[in-house]
Amino acid sequence: MKQGDTKMAKKDIDWANIGFGYIQTEKRYVTNFKNGEWDKGGLIEDPNIVLSECAGVLQYAQTAFEGLKAYTTVDGRIVTFRPDLNAERMMDSAKRLEMPVLPKERFLEAIDEVVAANNEYVPPYGSGATLYLRPYMFGTNPVIGVKPANEYQFRVFATPVGPYFKEGAKPVTIKVSDFDRAAPHGTGHIKAGLNYAMSLHAIVTAHAEGFDENMYLDPATRTKVEETGGANFIFITKDNTVVTPKSDSILPSITRRSIMYVAEHYLGLKVEHREVEFAEVKDFAEAGLCGTAAVISPIGKIVDHGKEICLPSGMEEMGPITKKLYETLTGIQQGKIEAPEGWIREIKVK
Ligand SMILES: *Cc1c(COP(=O)(O)O)cnc(C)c1O
Repeated sequence: MKQGDTKMAKKDIDWANIGFGYIQTEKRYVTNFKNGEWDKGGLIEDPNIVLSECAGVLQYAQTAFEGLKAYTTVDGRIVTFRPDLNAERMMDSAKRLEMPVLPKERFLEAIDEVVAANNEYVPPYGSGATLYLRPYMFGTNPVIGVKPANEYQFRVFATPVGPYFKEGAKPVTIKVSDFDRAAPHGTGHIKAGLNYAMSLHAIVTAHAEGFDENMYLDPATRTKVEETGGANFIFITKDNTVVTPKSDSILPSITRRSIMYVAEHYLGLKVEHREVEFAEVKDFAEAGLCGTAAVISPIGKIVDHGKEICLPSGMEEMGPITKKLYETLTGIQQGKIEAPEGWIREIKVK
């Protein structure tokens, strides 16, 4: 169906200037878990949730979420990027928080239905904007002793978000944090709401001091690089090897995993997924943050208690390898470069 046909008509939104905030859309997906099973589920219109004052999620933060985007490709298809990996990560999060697992196929169908039902909010190709999707699950029944809930709700809503970089990707400045993000053997590897509640004070503090993000070190020894509050690190060595930190308390970013694949199989670069000592950081040629929101944000400067590490790529633009990775991955996402099998899921609008 062409643009301009009634069903594909787009909302009258100034896509370039909407920013990253919640804009309510028309339909969301809901399914409830009760008596040991998920109900049939489906789309609803009510954006509000009525809960017991004693719901497990409100008392003990029993909740996990995911984040992914739907967007329009160069040839006008509406697609999502590797949503099967979001489904699998949500399953891992649910298990670690003693929540029921939503089968992968159901997760994927829920995403497809929400995107199709809100297709007028999927921004057009070239706008830089996307339709952000937020799947999440939480304990709903009253829980007062500390234990898992036995009733849950899984929901997916959609909200259009503007281009992450309005005036090109400017390098960010990062602070080595004195706070820890996740404990060894804790919940750093899952997308649990509690990880983000814990990070709020650290990020508000960093922003007040003029930094864009925190670099968290491994909490046990404070010698190794972990990640930021919402993005993984990639580093480029002076001989063009792509290095990314390995640790059980890092959230396994789908963007980072895709970048490592692209580096190796599309660009022929050497890749290393290994522990990264903070002491090595001063020797890297380029650094970046990766996650769904920005794909890659280049890092210009890392500040460790007043000591500055200035990346040779500078404060004006992305380093050359980072830029190649960014252009290749976004080219794949936008349908300009052939994607590996199974990376792009097309959504049929009925
Ligand atoms: C969501 C998230 C990321 C990025 O993961 P993507 O799958 O690439 O979006 C990285 N770190 C943390 C802590 C996150 O919550």
